[in-house]
Amino acid sequence: MIYLDYAATTPIDPKVANRMVEVMTNEFANPSASYQAGKHLKYKINQGRKQILDQLGFQGGEIYFTSGATEANNWAIMSQAYQARQLGYGHHLVAAAIEHPSVLETLSYLEGKGFEVTLIDPEPDGRYRAETFIKASRPDTSGWISMAVNNETGQILPIESINQAARQYVQWHHVDAVQALGKLDFPLGQMGASSYAISGHKIYGPKGIGALIYTPFEADMTLFSFIHGGGQEKGKRSGTENTLGILALVEAVKLMGPKDQQRLLELNKYLHQALERAKIDYEVNGQETVPNIVNLYLPKLVASQILIQMDLAGIAISAGSACSAGSLQVSHVLQALYPKEDRRHQASIRISFGRTTQESDFDAFIEILKRMQERE
Ligand code: PMP
Repeated sequence: MIYLDYAATTPIDPKVANRMVEVMTNEFANPSASYQAGKHLKYKINQGRKQILDQLGFQGGEIYFTSGATEANNWAIMSQAYQARQLGYGHHLVAAAIEHPSVLETLSYLEGKGFEVTLIDPEPDGRYRAETFIKASRPDTSGWISMAVNNETGQILPIESINQAARQYVQWHHVDAVQALGKLDFPLGQMGASSYAISGHKIYGPKGIGALIYTPFEADMTLFSFIHGGGQEKGKRSGTENTLGILALVEAVKLMGPKDQQRLLELNKYLHQALERAKIDYEVNGQETVPNIVNLYLPKLVASQILIQMDLAGIAISAGSACSAGSLQVSHVLQALYPKEDRRHQASIRISFGRTTQESDFDAFIEILKRMQERE
C-alpha cells in the first residue's frame, strides 16, 4: 500500500513499537500496586508527564492521560463551560466552524444543556483572526475554542494572537492541538491557551491514547472529574492507567523534532513540482498550511472517483477527514472556507504524508491523476 493519509493516522514508529514490546513483556504491573514493580510504573508515568510538558515548552500546567483527543476535547470543553457558567461568567461559547467533530458534537451536546454556541466562519480572505472571535463574542461569552491546525486543509490558525485576545475577553480558551503537534516550530506551551488536546496516533504512537493539558487562566477554573472510580489521574479520570499507551506516547513525543519538519518541507516542495511537471490542473484549498497536509482542488475530476481509482491502485488517501469519511459527506471545512463553490466541494481530496513517505509515492499518485485527467 502507498499510504498518503497521515492526517488520519500514522504508522507506529519502530522505536515506539520496541518500547511497547518492552512494556508489555516486562512492565505489566498495576501502577497503583504498593510493591516495587507497581511503584516503578507510577514513577515512570509521572516522569513521562513531566517529560511531555517540558518537551512541548510548558512551564507549569497539568497533563491528564485520556483515551485520545476526542475524550480530551469533550472533557476540556464541558468542564470549562460548566465551571465558567457556575462561576457566573455566562453560557455563550464561540468556536471556529472548521473544528473537528469531537469539538462540534460536544458543543451541540452543550446546546442541549442550555448553552448558546456561535460557530464562526473565517474572514472573507479565508483566515481566522483574533477579531473574528471578538466580533462574535458578547458580555456573557465565557470561552473560545480554536484548533491550532485544521485536519482537512492543514490551515494554521494564529493561536497566539487569538489567545492574547481570549485573555481579555473570556475565561477560557481551548485548543485542539492534534494536527499541530510536531508540525509547527512554535512550542505548544507558548500558545497561552487554558487547555489543549493531543493524540498519540497522529505522531507515530498507538491509537487510544492522548492527553488533556490543563493550564487555566484563573485558579477558580478547576477541572471537573470526568470518570469516577479508583482515583487515578489525581482523582479526575479514574481507571487503571493505560501504561502501554502512556509510555508509548512519551516515547512518540520524545522522537518528534526538527528533522521531521525539514523532511516534510522537502516532500511538500516535491509534490507541487511533480504536479506541475505532470500538468495536473489543481489549486490548493486553504492557505498558511502545515507542510504535511495538502488539500487539492482538482476541477476536472470528481473526488469520489479519484478515491476509487486510488484504492484500486493500492493508494490510501481521503477526501476529507477519515473520522467523518467512509460516508462521502461534503466537508464542513470546505463549505466554511468556500461557501458558494459546490464544484470545489465535490472535487477536492486530501494528501497527507510523513516520516516514511517517499517521493515515488507521490509519483504513483500523480500518474493515476494524470490518466484520469486525460480521460476527461
Ligand atoms: N481533533 C483533530 C483535529 C483530529 O484530527 C482528530 C483525529 N482525526 C481528533 C481530534 C480525534 O483524535 P482521536 O482519534 O485521538 O480521538
